[in-house]
Amino acid sequence: MTIAHNIETIRRDLPASVKLMAVSKQVSVAQMREAYAAGIRDFGESRIQEAQAKQQELSDLSDICWHLIGHLQGNKVRKAVQIFDWIHSVDSLKLLHQIDRVAGELSKSPRICLQVKILPDPDKYGWTIPELIADLTQINCCEFIKISGLMAIPPLGLTIEQTQELFDNARDLSHQISQQPGLQLQMTELSMGMSGDYRSAIAAGTTIIRLGSIIFGDRTEN
Ligand SMILES: *Cc1c(COP(=O)(O)O)cnc(C)c1O
Repeated sequence: MTIAHNIETIRRDLPASVKLMAVSKQVSVAQMREAYAAGIRDFGESRIQEAQAKQQELSDLSDICWHLIGHLQGNKVRKAVQIFDWIHSVDSLKLLHQIDRVAGELSKSPRICLQVKILPDPDKYGWTIPELIADLTQINCCEFIKISGLMAIPPLGLTIEQTQELFDNARDLSHQISQQPGLQLQMTELSMGMSGDYRSAIAAGTTIIRLGSIIFGDRTEN
């Protein structure tokens, strides 16, 4: 199946409120151009260097919105703030404040999602729910970035029901944070849903789905 066909099939039952991000890690720029021609404007990358090289090759497509979805190391914050419009994978208070400071220095205001582990998951970065709640006051102190919502990735091996429950819990947590008195955190976005579970994420009210293999085919590694 072609990339355009895959995108068309996904779009067919996508609510208008859901943004479709094409995860293009390990995907060639030729394939990205196909996705662009099929209407995709949001691309997700997990590595800074790969994203930067692709941005140069695709510089004629000036309306692409670039999303960082992989773990960000402190020493790469400046580059990330320079080249990404969104950073979905902010996983600690220290990193968040570093991004905010650099954003101020560079006069940028990237949109940010806080990566939260709804269930314990030793393989992933991110705040646990109690850690996130405890950090909210300090999260609220950011001046330059736009904290837009939560990002969640289910642990491997959940049933469909467990995945649904996890996405529902992430949505409820996001509402709870938005309504927290004394904070101005408007968590309007939910970045959740990948190729294998995006329908459950849509049922839970996600606003951004991050789809890779279902658009571009299987990758060799993650
Ligand atoms: C790779 C990746 C995706 C896309 O995964 P698929 O299963 O190929 O859709 C989505 N989100 C993150 C954070 C990823 O690293």
